[in-house]
Amino acid sequence: MVADLDLLVGLHSRYTHSVGAVLLVLAAGLVWAARRRPVAVALPLAVAASYGSHVLLDWLANDTSPPLGIMALWPFDNGFYLSSLHVFMAISRKYWLAAIWTQNLVSVTRELLILVPVAVIVARFRTCRQVGTSA
Ligand SMILES: [Zn+2]
Repeated sequence: MVADLDLLVGLHSRYTHSVGAVLLVLAAGLVWAARRRPVAVALPLAVAASYGSHVLLDWLANDTSPPLGIMALWPFDNGFYLSSLHVFMAISRKYWLAAIWTQNLVSVTRELLILVPVAVIVARFRTCRQVGTSA
């Protein structure tokens, strides 16, 4: 969720939603890992993958606030990219409108229906691997 801290400075879906941000997270993690003994590379890779999943999922979402999409390829390209799949519905921040609450509830429900099964599968896979490695 760190990527969405850009909402605080009015630059949402820009630099923090890019491959450049993912690479910076990875680089910071690798610097941290290099100072540890033994060197722990798996954690920085997992954190960067997690951060990258935020960028990917935002790219898959429907965006109704211009500029549409995310600066996915920054710093290599300043364009905004948005998937035409619209896997996830738009979330409105106009919380003072009653109709928006219903729309956002539907959007969040759809996100949960898509992502919770994925999280459960990953958790079960991880549990199986831990059991398998401890024997
Ligand atoms: Zn985001």
